[in-house]
Amino acid sequence: KSPSLPDLNVLEEGILKGERSLLARAITLIESNAEHHFRHAQELLQKLLPHSGNSLRIGITGVPGAGKSTFIESFGTFLCDSGLKVAVLAVDPSSSLSGGSILGDKTRMEQLSRNPNAFIRPSPSSGKLGGVHRKTRETMLLCEAAGFDVILVETVGVGQSEVIVRDMVDFFMLLTLTGAGDELQGMKKGIMELADAVIVNKADGLNKKLAEKTKAEYDRILHFLQPATKGWQTKAYTCSSTLNEGIREIWEMISRFEENTKKSGVFEERRRLQTKEWIHSMIMDQLQFSFFYDPDVKPLLPRIENEVIAGNRTVTSAVEELFNVYSKK
Ligand code: GDP
Repeated sequence: KSPSLPDLNVLEEGILKGERSLLARAITLIESNAEHHFRHAQELLQKLLPHSGNSLRIGITGVPGAGKSTFIESFGTFLCDSGLKVAVLAVDPSSSLSGGSILGDKTRMEQLSRNPNAFIRPSPSSGKLGGVHRKTRETMLLCEAAGFDVILVETVGVGQSEVIVRDMVDFFMLLTLTGAGDELQGMKKGIMELADAVIVNKADGLNKKLAEKTKAEYDRILHFLQPATKGWQTKAYTCSSTLNEGIREIWEMISRFEENTKKSGVFEERRRLQTKEWIHSMIMDQLQFSFFYDPDVKPLLPRIENEVIAGNRTVTSAVEELFNVYSKK
């Protein structure tokens, strides 16, 4: 073990007391790809597990420019002013694809980041999306142990990341803009079916009327879609993140959701399913890792790939040979 690692008991006690610097160090451990950090972080999680689970987990998605960071600034500040402790995490698919980051580059949520009740953590930047998934979920547990009441998980509306975030939160919302008529016809429908609320942002100034109209259009369509959560009708709402309008109403709606789903058992049922899926996705990750980094598979792979590329053998026979080598142990 590296001597520079913080002592587990120090980390545990500090996190339970809500000490941010120790929380941040523990998250860094979780995000590290070093084997000994991984083990250390897992031991810590095991200790903290009994103290996790007590937050409301909220996912927020939307295309770049929809106003996610402005909304979180406004919404998060409202929650903090109501006496709640709010952690903001991010799942940024761009960081695992390109090494760059859509979410992390700008100066974001300046006001919220200074609020003593808020804790903001950018997306873990290394590794595949599956790794980001694990790291974000584990970070969520740490934040819960540190006493955060609401965890906001932000993601850019690109591809897979919405599904991944939906799988780790209790409530999922889509932030959108006016003039979404065209979107409604297309791929947005899939995302709408994951959402517990559709928020039409920037309902202010000259845009206000149009936002109301867009909200009505969304409501009409949502009415015909399968709701994301049993017993909860997904509806559209408007807000202005810059004027802080409609923010309280959105929180009240989310509180109703929490109350209803806890009463019906849907809340707990979803968490149980999410835990199962988490286990399964980690098994898949581990399998992948243990295959591609297998000391016999790894050196063999390039040669076999080239044989297939050169047209000298079939993909099936190539994969079969690799698995024979892999499963010998
Ligand atoms: P993100 O990419 O989804 O995080 O979007 P941002 O929060 O960075 O917002 C994109 C732009 O929209 C910024 O220039 C914001 O100032 C602006 N914006 C965000 N929310 C509102 C709003 O409620 N009303 C108005 N008028 N502008 C907004």
